[in-house]
Amino acid sequence: MSAWLPISEIARLVQTGELKAVDLVEQALATISEKQDYNAIIVTLEARARERAMAIDAQPTGRLAGVPFIAKDNFLVFGADTTAASNILRGFEAPYQATAIERLEAEGAICVAKANLDAFAHGSSTENSDFMTTKNPYDTSRVPGGSSGGSAAAVMLDMAPFALGTDTGGSIRLPASYCGAVGYKPTYGLVSRSGVVAMASSTDVIGPITKTVADAALVLDVMSGRDDLDGTTIDADPAGYAELEKSLAGKKVGVIKEYMAEGVAPEVKAQIEAAIATIKAAGAAVVEVSLPSLPSALAVYYIICPAEVSSNLSRYDGQRFGHSYADATSLEESYKKSRSTGFGKEAKRRIMIGTYVLSSGYYDAYYKKAQTVRTKLINEFNEALQSVDFLLGPTAPDIAFKIGENIDDPLKMYLTDILTVAANLVGVPSISIPAGTAHDMPVGLQIMAAQRHDRQLLGFAKEVEGLLV
Ligand code: GLN
Repeated sequence: MSAWLPISEIARLVQTGELKAVDLVEQALATISEKQDYNAIIVTLEARARERAMAIDAQPTGRLAGVPFIAKDNFLVFGADTTAASNILRGFEAPYQATAIERLEAEGAICVAKANLDAFAHGSSTENSDFMTTKNPYDTSRVPGGSSGGSAAAVMLDMAPFALGTDTGGSIRLPASYCGAVGYKPTYGLVSRSGVVAMASSTDVIGPITKTVADAALVLDVMSGRDDLDGTTIDADPAGYAELEKSLAGKKVGVIKEYMAEGVAPEVKAQIEAAIATIKAAGAAVVEVSLPSLPSALAVYYIICPAEVSSNLSRYDGQRFGHSYADATSLEESYKKSRSTGFGKEAKRRIMIGTYVLSSGYYDAYYKKAQTVRTKLINEFNEALQSVDFLLGPTAPDIAFKIGENIDDPLKMYLTDILTVAANLVGVPSISIPAGTAHDMPVGLQIMAAQRHDRQLLGFAKEVEGLLV
């Protein structure tokens, strides 16, 4: 049971005056304050949210009229600092606003708070946040997943009907899976990245975390499409994403062989197999599909991602954004001290790996090779998606792990992303929807489609969601 009505219904009732935006904002703020021990929220935007709510009540229009939402704290939102949960950005106030936020606000949505994340979105648990670790709403001794862990926890804790996340290697889908939410990673380029702290620019995407597929589709519908401020953006489907067609019967679904292999917990596998049987019984054809380069995807990601991270993080030099080391006596020292005191362990690790794989002498052996295998992976996905409509498997190899369990072992932490990174490297849309539980913790079913088939994917996922409840 959700404390919130479907998003389209909230907006409709605000438009007719049956619900007041001011009350919705108060409900969100009260829930955030009541549940602050979960550490999902970095900052609330009370004054701004209340002001906007009053303006909306005076003129209640927009497809998201009065709908409160929470942005991961790597989105630039007016009236708040954008920290990306990193000490180096403490005190950095947004000079402009992310396109995604602009578009949501233009339809009447209200940003009430900013959510916790792994610093700079590097991580799978929020334990890399420089501020705090978010707790899983199902079991507070476990992580919520990451890096959009604050966003996923906030939605499941009913702090708002939806939250925004970013997904560079799984950061929307993994926390959705661990927390029992719906997490949508659109086709690369479908949502503008303007005004969002860059992680790895060739795989970064923005998407919603919600409780239902219909809510995710409506939010995507509002945010998506070309934007002059991000040259990689693509046109949205002319039919939009808000009205979905049923798309299960007669469809061909490929179960990814490599995603059901050794390493996936048997209890997780059992839930996915049960979901597959349900999908089959509802009239979809199910076949097994092999993507032979998939076992290399994680290695490829952890070369390409740090390479791009090392470049994107070079701008934080203590001169332009947030933290600057106070007692430096030269510019050189200011750069060094600002960066060494401002960045956390994981950011430093990625800067070192990234500059190493890009350095002359190692470029061919690592970066170039990784790009070659990435191309192979893209070709394999393209080929597979010519013979099947959707690809499917678990979102994560296991349920949410215990806080602290993987923190001293980066390789183990990276392994939690093993099933999510491929969609980012290839640029295809991918969704995680709840598919039962294992050991009383949520399990996520991951479904992917070909690039620009977001509408078909959401339609299919909505139907599957209906079958699995
Ligand atoms: N967990 C992955 C990483 O640490 C993915 C992060 C993300 O998608 N932002 O790189």
